Amino acid sequence: MSEVFDVVIVGGGTAGLALAARLSEDPGLQILVLEAGEDLTEDPRVNTPFLGSSLVHSSADWQFRTVPQVGLGNRETIVPRGRLLGGCSALDSFLFTAPSKHNVNTWADLGNSGWDWPSFSDSLRRTYTLVKASKEIEGNGPLELSFPEDTEWLRVWKETFANLGYPTSLDSLSGELYGAYLSAITVDAAAKQRSYSGNAYLQRARSRQNLAVYTETLVEKVIFDESKPLRAIGVRYSQEGLVKVATARREVVLSAGAINSPKILELSGVGDSQLLKLLGIDVVIDNKHVGENLQNHPTVGMCFEVVDQEGFETMDGILRGEAPAFAAAQADYEKQIGFGTRGNLEVAAQLPVPGVETPEGKQEIEKLLDNKRRGKEGLGTTTQAFASAHEKFVRSVLTSSTEPSATYLTIPGYATYAEDGSLAGPPPGHEKYYSAAITLSYPLSRGSVHITSSSPSSSPSSSSHAIDPAYFSHPLDLEILARHLHFLQTTLISTPPFSKQIVPNGKRSPAAPGPTLDDARRYVRDWATGSHDFVGSCAMMPRELGGVVDNRLRVYGCEGLRVVDASIFPVAVGTSPVASVYALAEHAARIMKADLG
Ligand SMILES: Cc1cc2nc3c(=O)[nH]c(=O)nc-3n(C[C@H](O)[C@H](O)[C@H](O)COP(=O)(O)OP(=O)(O)OC[C@H]3O[C@@H](n4cnc5c(N)ncnc54)[C@H](O)[C@@H]3O)c2cc1C
Repeated sequence: MSEVFDVVIVGGGTAGLALAARLSEDPGLQILVLEAGEDLTEDPRVNTPFLGSSLVHSSADWQFRTVPQVGLGNRETIVPRGRLLGGCSALDSFLFTAPSKHNVNTWADLGNSGWDWPSFSDSLRRTYTLVKASKEIEGNGPLELSFPEDTEWLRVWKETFANLGYPTSLDSLSGELYGAYLSAITVDAAAKQRSYSGNAYLQRARSRQNLAVYTETLVEKVIFDESKPLRAIGVRYSQEGLVKVATARREVVLSAGAINSPKILELSGVGDSQLLKLLGIDVVIDNKHVGENLQNHPTVGMCFEVVDQEGFETMDGILRGEAPAFAAAQADYEKQIGFGTRGNLEVAAQLPVPGVETPEGKQEIEKLLDNKRRGKEGLGTTTQAFASAHEKFVRSVLTSSTEPSATYLTIPGYATYAEDGSLAGPPPGHEKYYSAAITLSYPLSRGSVHITSSSPSSSPSSSSHAIDPAYFSHPLDLEILARHLHFLQTTLISTPPFSKQIVPNGKRSPAAPGPTLDDARRYVRDWATGSHDFVGSCAMMPRELGGVVDNRLRVYGCEGLRVVDASIFPVAVGTSPVASVYALAEHAARIMKADLG
């Protein structure tokens, strides 16, 4: 039996639910959302910032892994992805930062008209409401944003950056990213609860008669009507052991995320014909760019032992699992204060390549760019035109003294990465720590995600696809990240007042690098991992450049099929991407409403 809807959305995650909520504002459209994971909208692990990351490695996480990464000394790293209503927005780390104007305009410059900063930022403003300290209200959207409370750490962080000559009042939603800031977070200021697509968007739409949401429902493939013109007419899905079909009168939308949307396309016969034939899948659309161009920020972390001082609280007791620390945080949370009310990640900075502000420094970076240029032979399926545009953009960032090439995030407590990228807690003891993670904003390394069998299997133990972000396959990425790490180690933490918080000759994360740039390079290779910001695998750009979808998010080669999720960004979102994903969903809703008439 097949049920019939106007629009079938695959994936009730960040983008999928935001899109469904907007499209269902039109009572004339029947919308169905199919989500593989559970509905945990009432679960405190989702809603309480305090418990923010406890769903990672649970059944609400797809628990993917990369293939061994040559650039990381053959390490495999974890790839957490939300498998529940709300997707990654239900377990993310709450940071909400707009992309930079330059970043967004680059998407438009690739041939995507309508995706420049003025249009995109208009969609961004529709996603959130933020009451600023001045009581001014910014935005008019469903997500409730707030700022975490001020701490002594914030004061020290900002003063340190000011002493180094960086701006310290960056507005993380302005599109101008340069300097230190306290990021807005997706925490409802009144309720101190997570605000995400599962509550902010879905809750207000859920009672609508024209919106149906099925959870624990795995979509296996898109179904096409192969008479001319080729058209997507529904999806096949499994639910409670039964295989069923949902028919889409108007459109199928894939919002399954940057790992799973290309997988569903390939399982449906949309992808590289050679690969599909090899796996016994009938080719419906031959496009070798499906699943290519996977980009993710490499990231590296360091911990420093800090002075135990009143006002400079850290989370070490909680991270060590000490019951009294946990109880104190819980009690604070009930009073709506303290660590429990915000995510782990705190103050941040967006910085250009250290040293680029001087003429000699800029010259050195330019030389580096020339020396580390990748030849045609390393391009794989990437078109020369896209590779050149990508490189031109990254070059413009790396040689600018105000465009950030890395994000610095901090955690008051010991939190660094284990070899596989999972978070490692503090060693036993009573020491206090402060941690910093640096993520490279715009990697030039491009990897891929492809199916390895024709089975839609979704269990972590029998993964049917290979995720290869190809970290550091472009040599410039490691070099730039190492320069930032070197700056952190040699300059940032030795600048007052931050330097006064560090215990002289105190403990560091294991294998902490020595003082030279070479030490930093080695450390990055041995300890860097991937952040959770995958994009690019169904890139939006002209087909001849290597696109999978056009600027109206329609899959090339057929009608009635779009992709609306992080996979469409052709060049990485330089910041943490969730704000951009919500903005994309709002943008897509406007496009689709216009197209569906
Ligand atoms: C642990 C973690 C922390 C993060 N922290 C931050 C942060 O602090 N700030 C930030 O900006 N970004 C953060 N991110 C990244 C950000 O959350 C994601 O980039 C963004 O939410 C992705 O949105 P999406 O809509 O593309 O995909 P998702 O939100 O992942 O949605 C995809 C949905 O599709 C469903 N699905 C997939 N396949 C199928 C199928 N076959 N059938 C049915 N349903 C399917 C999934 O279960 C999921 O619900 C974090 C990510 C993770 C994992």
